[in-house]
Amino acid sequence: MNHRRVVLSESELPAKWYNLQADLPEPLPPVLHPTTMKPVGPADLAPLFAMELLKQEMSQERWIEIPDDVRNVLSMWRPTPLVRARNLERALGTPARIYYKDESHSPPGSHKPNTAVPQAYYNKIEGIHRLTTETGAGQWGCALAFACKQFDLQCKVYMVKVSYQQKPYRRSMMQLWGGEVTASPSTETESGRSILAEDPLTPGSLGTAISEAVEAAVHDEGVHYSLGSVLNHVMLHQTVIGLEVERQIQEFGDYPNVLVGCCGGGSNFAGLAFPFIRHKIAGKDLRFVAVEPCSCPTMSRGEFRYDWGDTTKLTPLIKMFTLGHSFVPPGIHAGGLRYHGLSPMVSFSLKLGLVEAAACHQLECFEAARLFAETEGIIPAPETSHAIRAAIVEAQRCKEQNKEECIVFSFSGHGLCDMSAYDRYLSGDLEDYEYPQDKISAAIAKLPDIE
Ligand SMILES: *Cc1c(COP(=O)(O)O)cnc(C)c1O
Repeated sequence: MNHRRVVLSESELPAKWYNLQADLPEPLPPVLHPTTMKPVGPADLAPLFAMELLKQEMSQERWIEIPDDVRNVLSMWRPTPLVRARNLERALGTPARIYYKDESHSPPGSHKPNTAVPQAYYNKIEGIHRLTTETGAGQWGCALAFACKQFDLQCKVYMVKVSYQQKPYRRSMMQLWGGEVTASPSTETESGRSILAEDPLTPGSLGTAISEAVEAAVHDEGVHYSLGSVLNHVMLHQTVIGLEVERQIQEFGDYPNVLVGCCGGGSNFAGLAFPFIRHKIAGKDLRFVAVEPCSCPTMSRGEFRYDWGDTTKLTPLIKMFTLGHSFVPPGIHAGGLRYHGLSPMVSFSLKLGLVEAAACHQLECFEAARLFAETEGIIPAPETSHAIRAAIVEAQRCKEQNKEECIVFSFSGHGLCDMSAYDRYLSGDLEDYEYPQDKISAAIAKLPDIE
């Protein structure tokens, strides 16, 4: 029998998260205070985050136990299937074996609740009653609203204005799970008001929405802030993806040559890749491809520098690949990939040469999404289509070189709430967009001068 899917049992849900910090050949550069520029400790961040999450942020422990209450909620949809994309392979005529880890099975439809659930849990047990956050395409807001509902917490979401207007269904999903949603920039916060004063017609950006959500949490003891990507504890929580794949690929009797994931803040890529980067550090020969849109080219055209995580410089400074905190990406449809920065752990892995970066154009990604829907049936999120495109490029290379490699990619989410984007693609309305170099240089020129 030619297996198509490996589905693990509930009892095989990982019991521990894997922390790459324990195995990195050099320690991560320290996180710096936004105004003093001195290294921050947990006390500086305690007004925003649960203590347990801050411990995880800085932990050097290799394995961190997943609490039973968290595993219990994750088991609503985990473990997720690892699927061999046999129809796609056939359509491409490639000798490569292509697998995808299907994270679209979660209730919100993406990998994001893998971290939303533990974040809600730790805040709940530390006495917090409300979480604030930002969302781009709405995926993260949905994940956090869903997770907060599981632990009886309130959830306030600042949604980037262009998505608020383009993605009304995700707004409704958040509201169904009890979330309170506001278009950002809003007049509710000082950050929002000052950005609106500068540009009343701004489409908004993740950087701005982060400023608003942080401001709304920082002054209230019972309220914390939650971030859906970028931070080390988020990367940690997402490793359930790769840890499951480790077992599943073994059941297929296979082992990856290349692992591929799309990169916004870096969390679904990290979730798949980090458990296997530990194999690479231990001497195995495998490659990791992190894919971004050409219209928000953080890894391919940004710099590895200290920068703020948000537009109005409220967050700590982190060393990462960045296009500059003042960068406002164009309103492309892969909203979840519109962020000026990138996880410090993924950035550092890239800097150390453990990971490679690739960039794809919007149109070739939608073409890849169409081929995937035709062959494998599932309609991918526009973000996910970047990983599919890059996996196809790898499979075509295997065809040219006549190599039977094993390619595994992260299917980060479904696109059933992104039909307006597909409508525009089908009507020939979409264009490729290359960010002009002078705008990137101008944003990078505003970075602080810190080594
Ligand atoms: C948010 C999102 C991404 C990008 O975020 P990462 O933190 O880089 O994973 C990718 N795919 C989907 C479906 C998303 O919702």
